[in-house]
Amino acid sequence: MKLTIGCLYPDLLNLYGDRGNMRCLVKRLEWRGIGAAEAPVMAGERVDFNEMDIVILGGGSDREEELAGRYLREQREAVREYVENGGVMLAVCGGYQLLGEYYETNDRLVEGLGILDVRTRWEPRRLVHNIVLESPLSGEPVVGFENHGGRTDIGGHKPFGRVVCGYGNTETSGYEGVVYKNVIATYLHGPLLPKNPQVCDYLLGKALRRRFGESIRLGSLPDELEHRANGSMVKRCRSRRFWL
Ligand code: GLN
Repeated sequence: MKLTIGCLYPDLLNLYGDRGNMRCLVKRLEWRGIGAAEAPVMAGERVDFNEMDIVILGGGSDREEELAGRYLREQREAVREYVENGGVMLAVCGGYQLLGEYYETNDRLVEGLGILDVRTRWEPRRLVHNIVLESPLSGEPVVGFENHGGRTDIGGHKPFGRVVCGYGNTETSGYEGVVYKNVIATYLHGPLLPKNPQVCDYLLGKALRRRFGESIRLGSLPDELEHRANGSMVKRCRSRRFWL
């Protein structure tokens, strides 16, 4: 049994170590004796989505996001097909925005892939904070760090979680991210997965069952360190006025 973990354009989209999400997915497979291959795809290279079991799309500054958008739009139909056929994906911040209709700043309009029915508008005041969510995808709080100028309207989509500390999609909606089919799209950097092992295993479970059948179950791992890292972030946020 082996899964291939792709990471699109880590040379452009690697803000706050988003590429580390790929390492985390691979390690948690290896610790369970399951084969794993890292498949970074650099800007301009073509992606073979048939080969991918999980695809990571990280975040970047506006400039890098615009460039990544150009490369991604060349493969729009392949990305859409992958997502609509239940392909597993984690899209973070700039990557989240690029799955939507557009990212509009004061001086440009970056066209997205239009796979998610979401729209992002930039505002000059950046939303920068540690963030804690309650999410149906994790039995413990989901923790991370957000830094974005974009405010994302998620229309009728299901959010990734409810914000208990921090800003989230729009600062005022009270919700963060989107879950659509087997895609998690979120503003959470960190990277996200090392401190949120249950979110990591959610993605691994989806990918394993998609590739090898519905009967596959993931065994548990001794996650003491991960839980301590998660708990210390929750504690740090709780001591601040931003706790809702
Ligand atoms: N450039 C986007 C914004 O500022 C995304 C930033 C990011 O990926 N952290 O909203």
